[in-house]
Amino acid sequence: MAMEDKKKVVILGAGFGGLRVARLIAKKLRRLGLINRYEIVLIDRNGYQTYTPLLYEVATTSKQTANACKLLSVATYPLSHLVSSLPVTLLTKEIKGIDLIEGDIHFADSTTLVFDHLIIALGSEINYFNIPGLAEHSIPLKTFHDAVRIRDTVWSLAMEGVKDINIVVGGAGPTGVEIAAEFKEWCGELEQEFKKCRLHVTLIEGNQTVLPGFDTRVIAHATKRLKKLNIEIFTGERIEEVSMRAATLKSGRRVPFDVCVWSGGVKVPSLLADMPLEKESRGRPLAQGIMECLPQSPDLKLRSRIFGLGDCICFNDPETGKPIPSVARAALTQAGIVAHNIVEDIKSAESSTYHPRHIIYDPHSHPYVIPIGGKYAIAQLGVIYFKGLSGWILKGLVELNYLFSIMPPHRALRIWLKGLWIFIQNDRLG
Ligand SMILES: Cc1cc2nc3c(=O)[nH]c(=O)nc-3n(C[C@H](O)[C@H](O)[C@H](O)COP(=O)(O)OP(=O)(O)OC[C@H]3O[C@@H](n4cnc5c(N)ncnc54)[C@H](O)[C@@H]3O)c2cc1C
Repeated sequence: MAMEDKKKVVILGAGFGGLRVARLIAKKLRRLGLINRYEIVLIDRNGYQTYTPLLYEVATTSKQTANACKLLSVATYPLSHLVSSLPVTLLTKEIKGIDLIEGDIHFADSTTLVFDHLIIALGSEINYFNIPGLAEHSIPLKTFHDAVRIRDTVWSLAMEGVKDINIVVGGAGPTGVEIAAEFKEWCGELEQEFKKCRLHVTLIEGNQTVLPGFDTRVIAHATKRLKKLNIEIFTGERIEEVSMRAATLKSGRRVPFDVCVWSGGVKVPSLLADMPLEKESRGRPLAQGIMECLPQSPDLKLRSRIFGLGDCICFNDPETGKPIPSVARAALTQAGIVAHNIVEDIKSAESSTYHPRHIIYDPHSHPYVIPIGGKYAIAQLGVIYFKGLSGWILKGLVELNYLFSIMPPHRALRIWLKGLWIFIQNDRLG
């Protein structure tokens, strides 16, 4: 069958969830002998996937230790390599619009693609909450380039001879806590390189504690650790305005800075804001049991069933009624559910006697690891907590496990060891 006659299973976004779902569907359809009738198209604006859990390390690695190319090779992985052995068509394009009724995907280069099955896995965008000056005067930590920009900015200040570099980190969720703590660890190395250069880090959080929403034991350990690292913490304080050199807080306090890192929130990609889908209060499409996003009104006829997964959708935990957290592990688990369900739909379309057996996503608490400076991390696996060096070792194993799941073992091991070699020089014990 000619490529253009094949039915298109289109996946928007090749992050954690999108890449996994593409790989799983490709393997399943190949096993079923259906790959000559279906084309799996994976679309992303970047030709690589970013391993976000390493970004805080990238942002705090001295230039002597690793140049940007070396860092790129351990924190980003070319998509063409990751799908090379699979029947997946990769499109490196910026998506500009999605017509769920006609079934058209519109790209920045003015081309379009028609889908027969659709999975939305577009992640999230930085949310600046319309705080005046914040977008202009802060650096987010979302992409590899953000991480390199943060490190280059601090490095340049040190090279210019600034002795006391003030860094403000806005938002004390996991990303804010990780980067704030790692700045302090980096400080030791910078001091050796640039005599008497010191980093002063202030962490600002609008909620009453750091790591809002986490278990109280985790919050207590993290707070103690951050204080031990001499990080100044302001909780219950919102950033109201940011100028070129200072953040003004709700209480009126002014916190001067040389570098402001914003890790205070994300929002649904603007591309999805006008989708005629059922949404939650923060504007994310709501995904139901089988990870399907339903149309805004029951009489609205969409081109096909729409599946969504990962950070760009909201899935409410049926037990608690609360949205499940936006973490990589959730996106990966949901990808498995979506792959199964979409292949069931395909099997049923191929045979009128086949009754699809969909599975329902049953969210459970996902394990997590929060590194807090050097070889120290807090991790939770089920009911077991790890903290200190054991948490840090677990973090390394989680990274290796992820790499094994997306590339051949020899390549995964090589990249992991390279990363370990670079970042171990940053991560001091204690
Ligand atoms: C600094 C940082 C550290 C983190 N650390 C952890 C951690 O330790 N553990 C953890 O579980 N989670 C962590 N996370 C969260 C984790 O990265 C997300 O939960 C996860 O990436 C969500 O996966 P996803 O597939 O939904 O979206 P993403 O992985 O964000 O993928 C979305 C993809 O869509 C693409 N895309 C978006 N819009 C367009 C468009 N218009 N056109 C084309 N392509 C587009 C993007 O390029 C991207 O590749 C971290 C996040 C950050 C920012």
